[in-house]
Amino acid sequence: VTAADGEPSGARGLLRDLAREVGDEHVLAEPDLLAGYTTDWTRRYAGGALCAVRPGSAGQVAAVLRACAGYSAAVVPQGGNTGLVGGSVPPGDGSRGRGVVVLSTRRLRDLGPVDPLAAQVTAGAGVTIADLRAHAAAAGLAYGVNLASRESATVGGTIATNAGGINTIRYGATRSQLLGIEAVLADGSIVSRLSGLAADNVGYDLAQLLAGSEGTLAVITTARLRLWPAEPAAVTLLAGVDGIAAAAALHAEIRALAPGLRAAEYVEAAGVELVRELTGLPAPLSRPAPAYLLAEISGSADEAERLAALPSLARAAVAMDAAGRAALWAYRERHTEAISALGIPHKMDVAVPLARIAAFRAELDQAVRAAANGAGGAGPAPRVFVFGHIGAGNLHVNVLGPDPADGTVDEAVMRLAAVHGGTISAEHGIGRAKAGLLHLSRSPAEIAAMRAVKAALDPGDLLNPGVLLPG
Ligand SMILES: Cc1cc2nc3c(=O)[nH]c(=O)nc-3n(C[C@H](O)[C@H](O)[C@H](O)COP(=O)(O)OP(=O)(O)OC[C@H]3O[C@@H](n4cnc5c(N)ncnc54)[C@H](O)[C@@H]3O)c2cc1C
Repeated sequence: VTAADGEPSGARGLLRDLAREVGDEHVLAEPDLLAGYTTDWTRRYAGGALCAVRPGSAGQVAAVLRACAGYSAAVVPQGGNTGLVGGSVPPGDGSRGRGVVVLSTRRLRDLGPVDPLAAQVTAGAGVTIADLRAHAAAAGLAYGVNLASRESATVGGTIATNAGGINTIRYGATRSQLLGIEAVLADGSIVSRLSGLAADNVGYDLAQLLAGSEGTLAVITTARLRLWPAEPAAVTLLAGVDGIAAAAALHAEIRALAPGLRAAEYVEAAGVELVRELTGLPAPLSRPAPAYLLAEISGSADEAERLAALPSLARAAVAMDAAGRAALWAYRERHTEAISALGIPHKMDVAVPLARIAAFRAELDQAVRAAANGAGGAGPAPRVFVFGHIGAGNLHVNVLGPDPADGTVDEAVMRLAAVHGGTISAEHGIGRAKAGLLHLSRSPAEIAAMRAVKAALDPGDLLNPGVLLPG
């Protein structure tokens, strides 16, 4: 491992020490090997790093953290690098003169046997959500978190972001699945409690503290996770609606009739058209609608018949077999990819109370236009795509057009959500993207308490500086 000219002082020494701890082949410093670790999924966030290091055990993670602390290098923990808020890659403007090391957890892939008595499993931080879900299913159980990035997103990354996803309305977000954790603190000490005892009431809950900590407090190495009874085959339906108010109302109607409702997603015609252009999929319904509600219910043919009787489902496609359900899901799940194919979008992930969601949507386009013009937006009119987990009040607002480096539009959307009693982050977290806007969703006293926790656990600001808490 060699360091290029112009790297921070001590770089060669750090690379040598890291290679001694994890093996030369797991310290990647060559630009072409490093590139995939320093640019995020959206291509909006990228930075420079001295290397990416891939420890293979909690002990090696501890050694890596100690080595980096010795050289005052910042550490960016990284799982599948599917995060959408710039938290998984180094900062673009350097780290205040410090060297940066990306610590990849992808080799921490141990997956223990499913415990059928407790309905729990122990999984390494680098296990993907797809592998975890398949492992649980093979034992007749289910993992509660499911999201379109499942093939790459990891156990550690989803805990660190407290990921939500399509089944949050039924099982809760990732923190609701988390029963215990093993993690390495900034000083290299390992905290481990993986017993999974449902009744264990001893002081602060470190596992829950790390849920949503975005790599700023510790590197998660293993987790003990709750599993759920596998549910009967599902009914998936895609219903045309007149707009977001109708989608929210229909979701509530279905929920009242079908207790097994496990997903309620919202898409609009503009996004569906984009997905169709990308994928070649046919129109979802014979008569186009301005918007659609996609709902999934665990149930049987009886359930489907009861639902079909709802007058508001007159304009719906219904699927009960796996292929048919996957076809309907594609209209929703391929949004992110279809939008990114057109350029680098501004991606906002807000939630607003369902009672205010229609008012928020009604004001959104104008707020985006005004912000884009205010930012000197002489360019093309911004294109706004709205979709998301409407059952949780969670809307993804994607805007194409304004310069990706300009945050004016992002701030306008988040301010609008706050005005309507909402939050600037429903599920993606804060990352680097929203650190400066934390005050829109947390009070000064709450931010001070978060800073106190950070200072206590990571006094040297080793872990992910600039993420979550503004510098
Ligand atoms: C197509 C697509 C669909 C998506 N859908 C959803 C969705 O429905 N719901 C949702 O919530 N998100 C969604 N996301 C966002 C993303 O998948 C989640 O944020 C996910 O939790 C990130 O996991 P990851 O392993 O890729 O983490 P990364 O992107 O690698 O990291 C995310 C954050 O966690 C930290 N981190 C990662 N691993 C560790 C660790 N072991 N210890 C400590 N900190 C760590 C990083 O430093 C970073 O701050 C989607 C993304 C894409 C691309």
